[in-house]
Amino acid sequence: MQQGSGPSSTPPRDAHERERLENVHPDGWRNPRPADRYGLVVVGGGTAGMVAAHAAAALGAKVALIERGLFGGDCLNVGCVPSKSIIRTSRLYAEMRHAEQYGARTPADIRVDFPALMERMRGIRARISRADSVRRLTAAGVDVFFGQACFTGADALTADGARLRFKKALIATGARPDTPSIPGLAEAGYLTNENVFDLTELPRRLLVIGGGPLGCELAQAFCRCGAQTIITQDMPLFLPREERDAAHILSDSFARDGIDVQLNTKAVGVRVEHGQKLVDLVSDDRRSTVAVDAILTGTGRVPEVGGLGLEAAGVAYDDTVGIRVDDFLRTSNRRIYAAGDACLDHKFTHTADASARIVVRNALFLGRQRLSTLTIPWCTYTDPEIAHVGLYVRQARERGIPVKTFTIPMHDVHRAIADGEETGFVKIHVKERTDRILGATIVARHAGEMINEITLAMVAGIGLRTLGRVIHAYPTQAEAIKQAADAYSRTRLTPPIRSLLRRWQRW
Ligand SMILES: Cc1cc2nc3c(=O)[nH]c(=O)nc-3n(C[C@H](O)[C@H](O)[C@H](O)COP(=O)(O)OP(=O)(O)OC[C@H]3O[C@@H](n4cnc5c(N)ncnc54)[C@H](O)[C@@H]3O)c2cc1C
Repeated sequence: MQQGSGPSSTPPRDAHERERLENVHPDGWRNPRPADRYGLVVVGGGTAGMVAAHAAAALGAKVALIERGLFGGDCLNVGCVPSKSIIRTSRLYAEMRHAEQYGARTPADIRVDFPALMERMRGIRARISRADSVRRLTAAGVDVFFGQACFTGADALTADGARLRFKKALIATGARPDTPSIPGLAEAGYLTNENVFDLTELPRRLLVIGGGPLGCELAQAFCRCGAQTIITQDMPLFLPREERDAAHILSDSFARDGIDVQLNTKAVGVRVEHGQKLVDLVSDDRRSTVAVDAILTGTGRVPEVGGLGLEAAGVAYDDTVGIRVDDFLRTSNRRIYAAGDACLDHKFTHTADASARIVVRNALFLGRQRLSTLTIPWCTYTDPEIAHVGLYVRQARERGIPVKTFTIPMHDVHRAIADGEETGFVKIHVKERTDRILGATIVARHAGEMINEITLAMVAGIGLRTLGRVIHAYPTQAEAIKQAADAYSRTRLTPPIRSLLRRWQRW
């Protein structure tokens, strides 16, 4: 947490905040009297918990939902929603600085209004909180309890002194930031996603530790908002999961933004002197010290499994992996399931949602839906965005699947040229000698939107050849996908087929 010296981070209790809190944890809330026994008790009111509770109640189950903090969980309060709101404004500032590229003029001195930017974010968060409100759940017939849930046995738990018995339960307790153990960091004070959105002033100098999605997104956003930003990553590239050329493009883009990129670099010690934080960095055998006003850690997230009484419930878990589940999302207690960040490797809002739906089917309707059948896309919302779905080439090779890749650079896409958004590529992998799509990586300004077309094709079993027959509106950036499909179709014109076609034409 941000302690000691550094920029102020006490959230203003403005009208937006009052609206959000009234939606996600109403003042003076009184828990209801528990029913004799619930068909489903859900622990955690984040995306996974709310989706499951809504769906189960709509399908006729008697449902209780227990939340110890704020409904909406990380995504609404301290994750996707505030980060994407800030990223939007930061993009605008970046574009204003490069306005002349678009034939436009702006004042030479563009001033960032950080309080206004944060107020916009709070307004968006308040508006979206209406969809995650306690009122919506109670209107759907869900019994809502505020308090820390703790299992007391195989079919019972307590929440704020009330005892709830259940036929089935869902653990959807999410994840929390994993704090790096750097000597002096705790004493100096640091930011995580849990308090960075409470900042009321922009840190003049910011160090971001960690080059995963969270670190990359926020480093770029804060830099574009005017913070002198350094990002350290203890590996050779950012986003270790992604394809190397995608990560390279991101490093270059960061450098263009003016971020001080320190790859292969570890933060090894922090101390406070004269109100500033001095951070010792080690890169190979080179040591250096940087002085900053704030440190943001983005070194991963660990599942929230503490204090839940999992031993009493007979639920197996691991502090790193989370709740142990099988492919049907059942825990070692057959009555209890898990969903979302508490148990999944892919910690995203859309996977929390999808896994919650699987649980409702499997737990309440004897369903046999498997987690492994899901096709899961994801996107890191940097500029350019980096989106992926399906297999990477290395994964396909590990499975012995021969791969052919079709790549279209965005600078060959007319709309990307017109938009001045030419950085990146669309890369689609198919099984060799077929048009079956194995996976895709898209690096582009709107990669997150574009990846959905490939995901649809994969889920529906549509091959790359058919994507080539889909008329794409001109000019759109998604035409890059059609261009990749056309490139595939050209490979089908083998020399014998070409000569046959020539003979046909002559005839
Ligand atoms: C900065 C940031 C940006 C992100 N951006 C994106 C993005 O752009 N796209 C995307 O898909 N994902 C994004 N994510 C990830 C996304 O927020 C999570 O994957 C998602 O919120 C997981 O939902 P969940 O329901 O599993 O858990 P959570 O949202 O964490 O909800 C869990 C809830 O359980 C409650 N709880 C925990 N223990 C107990 C207990 N014992 N008793 C009662 N209640 C309990 C917690 O208070 C919490 O409200 C981002 C995350 C961060 C941190």
